[in-house]
Amino acid sequence: MFRWSIAVLLPLILLAVNPAWAQPCMCIDIGDIKQRIKEANAAIAAYGAEMQKMMEQMQRTREPIPYTPARREMLQGRVQQAVNQAAAGRIATMPSIQGENPGGTSNLCTMTINLHPSATACMRESVKRHEQHHQQECQKTLSGAKVRETIATGKDRFERDGIQLVQYAQEEIGGYTIELMFLHAELARLTRSEECNPKPKPEVRDYSGQPRDRKARP
Ligand SMILES: [Zn+2]
Repeated sequence: MFRWSIAVLLPLILLAVNPAWAQPCMCIDIGDIKQRIKEANAAIAAYGAEMQKMMEQMQRTREPIPYTPARREMLQGRVQQAVNQAAAGRIATMPSIQGENPGGTSNLCTMTINLHPSATACMRESVKRHEQHHQQECQKTLSGAKVRETIATGKDRFERDGIQLVQYAQEEIGGYTIELMFLHAELARLTRSEECNPKPKPEVRDYSGQPRDRKARP
C-alpha cells in the first residue's frame, strides 16, 4: 500500500518542483525541432526568392502584382516543394487533412491547427505561434464593414484588402521567422539543459520506475 502511494506521488512531486513541466518541448523533441528549423528556413528562402522575382517583374513591366487566390496557389505550390525537399519524409508537422496547411487563419481571423493527432505539444506550439502572427495581422485590418464584405462577397481577406502578392509573402516570412525564434530558443535551452545531457554518475539508482526523460511530462 505504502509503495503504491509513493509510486503515484513521486511523479506528481517531480512535476510540482520541476519548472520544465511548463515547457512545450522536451529532450525527445530535439530531432523534431531541428527538422522544423530546416523546413522554416527552406520556406523563408523560397518566399524570398519568389519576392525577388516579383520585384523584377514589377520593375520590368511597371505593373503591380495584386494578390489573387490563383497567384497564391502558384506561390504556395512552389514554396511547398521547397519545404518538402527539406522535410525528407518527416511527418511531424504534416496536416491531418491532405492538402491543408498545418494551421490556418480564417477571413474573420479565427485560428485552426490541423496537425496530425500524433504531432507533439512542441510542434503544435511552433505552428500555433506562426498562426498567431497571421491572426494578429488579420485583426489589424478587420472592421465591421470588412466582416460584412467578407460575408457578402466570400472574398478571402487578402483579396478583400487589396494587398500585393509581395505583402502576402512577407506575412508568411513573418510567421516562419516567429517559429524560428521559438525553435532556436527551445533548442538552445534543451541542448544546454542537464536533463538532455545526463552526466554519468556512479551508483545512481532510480527507484521511481519512471523513464527518466519522460518523467516531467504531465
Ligand atoms: Zn502561414
